[in-house]
Amino acid sequence: ELEPGPVGVGFEEVEYAYPDGGRVLHGVSVEIAPRSRVAVVGETGSGKSTFVKLLTRLADPSSGRVLLGGVPLTDVPLESLRRRVVMVPQDGFLFNTTVGENIRYGRADVGDDEVRAALADLGLTGWAESLPGGLETPAGPRGEALSAGERQLVALARAYLADPDLLVLDEATSAVDPATEQRLQRALETATRGRTAVSVAHRLSTAEAADRVLVFDAGRIVQQGTHEEL
Ligand code: ATP
Ligand code: MG
Repeated sequence: ELEPGPVGVGFEEVEYAYPDGGRVLHGVSVEIAPRSRVAVVGETGSGKSTFVKLLTRLADPSSGRVLLGGVPLTDVPLESLRRRVVMVPQDGFLFNTTVGENIRYGRADVGDDEVRAALADLGLTGWAESLPGGLETPAGPRGEALSAGERQLVALARAYLADPDLLVLDEATSAVDPATEQRLQRALETATRGRTAVSVAHRLSTAEAADRVLVFDAGRIVQQGTHEEL
């Protein structure tokens, strides 16, 4: 039974191969304490996105186990998993509706006031007001009216509103302009405060803000420690 509240994460000797490919994770074992912020770094193709995908069951290990609050993920009911673990994907698309609706995303219980309060917490009020139609601005097909960085801001705001016990973020690799970059950094800091968070970091600032950094190389964790230690 998965206890309510902040959860730790465990990987036990996890191996992963994509159905049509070679093995991309090799014997990955790690413990992540409840409420700690972990950054995942490493070269392109080293397995960072694959590692975080296992946390949401977008993929399941070929062997080994992933545990959430000590419970194997495969034993956590999917409905409970969807509520407790929320991921901001690396290149997530948005729905072809307004920015505000994308933040609310299917949550009939969430009103405009809550959306605005979340944006204020995240330091995104000015950004939302700068959009041509504010929160009513169309995101366009797949969210392409916004930049990749702005799509991540929207996904992060959505994740923050969902108030998960584990927040997973896979930073966009595409170029992000400095203003969006700064907003993302600040919003991420607020969204992950006091929460268990695993963020794939392509930016130094994200690694610096983490309690611990995991360094991936060719599908293995080859180093871990604080940013200063590494
Ligand atoms: P990046 O920094 O570029 O985002 P990454 O560290 O996130 O890289 P992964 O996306 O986890 O790397 O990919 C690890 C390996 O798995 C790579 O060799 C990649 O080509 C391969 N891979 C990723 N997705 C798939 C897939 N859907 N099917 C087959 N192989 C895949
Ligand atoms: Mg990736």
